[in-house]
Amino acid sequence: MSTHHYRGRFAPSPSGDLHFGSLVTAVASFADAKHHGGTWLIRIDDVDQTRTLPGAEASILATLERFGLCSDEPPQRQSDRSSAYQSALQHLIDAGRVYRCNCSRKAVAAKGRSGIEGPIYPGTCLHNPPPQNQAAAWRFAVDSSPIAFADRVYGEITQRLRDDVGDFIVYRIDGYCAYQLAVVIDDADQAITHVVRGADLLSSTPRQIAVQHALGLPSLSYAHIPLVMG
Ligand code: GLU
Repeated sequence: MSTHHYRGRFAPSPSGDLHFGSLVTAVASFADAKHHGGTWLIRIDDVDQTRTLPGAEASILATLERFGLCSDEPPQRQSDRSSAYQSALQHLIDAGRVYRCNCSRKAVAAKGRSGIEGPIYPGTCLHNPPPQNQAAAWRFAVDSSPIAFADRVYGEITQRLRDDVGDFIVYRIDGYCAYQLAVVIDDADQAITHVVRGADLLSSTPRQIAVQHALGLPSLSYAHIPLVMG
């Protein structure tokens, strides 16, 4: 991929002030973009509006600016993008890649065997869909094929979503788009080519690649930065 087309981003969640670890990630993604002569964007990851703290966005942007980390384009906010997420969900519904689910966390924990990030959904609503007049989340139906990518820091990563993660939520029962879908749609709509972010999201990447494949979206380059501890 030509470095002329490099587009990177830093996507903080406005759930509090920018802490030191996030600043390290911001610097890494900024430096990588500038090193490649690329464009660097700040995106406000406030899709989970139940976790948004008033004032946090302004404080994060001020901190980034103080360190000279300025977005090359006006920052976009996930809370302004619900129609883009709804149309992506509709594509997934039309393609038969998602199904409705109203299981509680407790029910999933009781029945699911454990995966790398908690219980694996046992498929209850896949076989017994909830009634149409009941609120439900949407789950992405994973398959058994391996998903592999070459992380620029961690090397070759492979997951089998069916064994490791299970069918995951892309739209929440409370009507908010889930992070795993929102991030894919945002990265595609902003023509992001390179993702540099914290290693806490390394294990989410195969889910995001599966959603990209389902929607026919381009693949991205990933670099996960080890987390600052303590
Ligand atoms: N909003 C996420 C965070 O603050 C980052 C998401 C991403 O970079 O994909 O951890």
